[in-house]
Amino acid sequence: MVRPANPLAGVKRLTIKIGSSLLVDAASGQLRHDWLKSLCADIAALKQEGCDVIVVSSGAVALGRAILNLTSAKKPLTLDQAQAAASVGQIALSQAWRDALAEHGVITGQILVTPNITEERRQFLNARATLSTLLALGAVPIINENDTVATAEIRYGDNDRLSARMAAMANADMLLLFSDVDGLYTAPPGSSADATHIPLVETISPEIEAMAGGAASHLSRGGMATKIDAARIATGSGTAMIIAKGAAFHPIRAVTKGARHTYFPARQSGAAARKRWILGTLDISGQIHIDAGAARALKSGKSLLPIGVTAISGHFNRGDTLGIFGPDNVELARGLASMSGEEAQLAKGHKSGEIADLLGPSSRTELVHADNLVLLASDAAKPVMSE
Ligand code: GLU
Repeated sequence: MVRPANPLAGVKRLTIKIGSSLLVDAASGQLRHDWLKSLCADIAALKQEGCDVIVVSSGAVALGRAILNLTSAKKPLTLDQAQAAASVGQIALSQAWRDALAEHGVITGQILVTPNITEERRQFLNARATLSTLLALGAVPIINENDTVATAEIRYGDNDRLSARMAAMANADMLLLFSDVDGLYTAPPGSSADATHIPLVETISPEIEAMAGGAASHLSRGGMATKIDAARIATGSGTAMIIAKGAAFHPIRAVTKGARHTYFPARQSGAAARKRWILGTLDISGQIHIDAGAARALKSGKSLLPIGVTAISGHFNRGDTLGIFGPDNVELARGLASMSGEEAQLAKGHKSGEIADLLGPSSRTELVHADNLVLLASDAAKPVMSE
């Protein structure tokens, strides 16, 4: 493929990952305020054009380290020192983002995540619902790992992979990783005179992995290897990825104007990836029978509402996979439950307006949201995975 001239053209939902070494000056441990302001001006401009923006920001440990005066030695912090630093620094970090985006009238929301958010389906659906509500309300979610409670074994560890998971969860079209290098090279640029820049990576081959090597600065955890892992996660979920240098002012604008970067095209559309994921669930926990009106609604891309449900069997929780059967008893769709089986039994046959009275104000009104629903081809009532 040919790399697009402006890789952000047509992007409707963008996740941006900002590394610690960009936000925090290595020598002083101070936040680079003017740079952040220039970045936030770029973000505000994208939002003006109708693009949703999600930020994954590192920097908590680096900022907290300076605030707590743990900067004297260059040696790495112990785990508990790093966690204490993150606890202090995260406040400063969110405040900096809030203030810099507020100058453009943009509201920020903070999300601190642990890996179970993306690994457990119910947590995943909850987090995704919150994220899309924040975006629908026009806010910019600022995400970081919940470093203070994460333990060595239960953590993402680096924000490269975390940002790829978040981009996948949000169905972003693009993940923009800002780093201190402008992309992938055939060898580490500092150490080899004939290191050549790679503008486009269509396949993450063993050669590409070998080129990524190690190399992280003392402030950030990720090196090129975690960026390649991120590319694998993102592109497999329908999100294209870019590695670009972020240190100069207005780094997003620079990318749109052709600044050097490495581009990883998405391997499949986000919708296709989600569909594969839902179809990949081998066991269905519940069977939902629906009437002809609901079947028509599903075929036209709508959510499954309780009013069209005629019978429910099986035991399921939110996030479990349901088989959805039409009036002819043929399975016509699969989807992830927005309610538990008990809630669905109560809601069955009721109008959306009545659901809050039956199940409480914070309940969902749909049984399966259209985003979590896959229609089965009529000749493939028993879905099989091709990959
Ligand atoms: N979560 C860490 C922080 O905010 C950064 C992790 C990383 O550098 O990728 O300091």
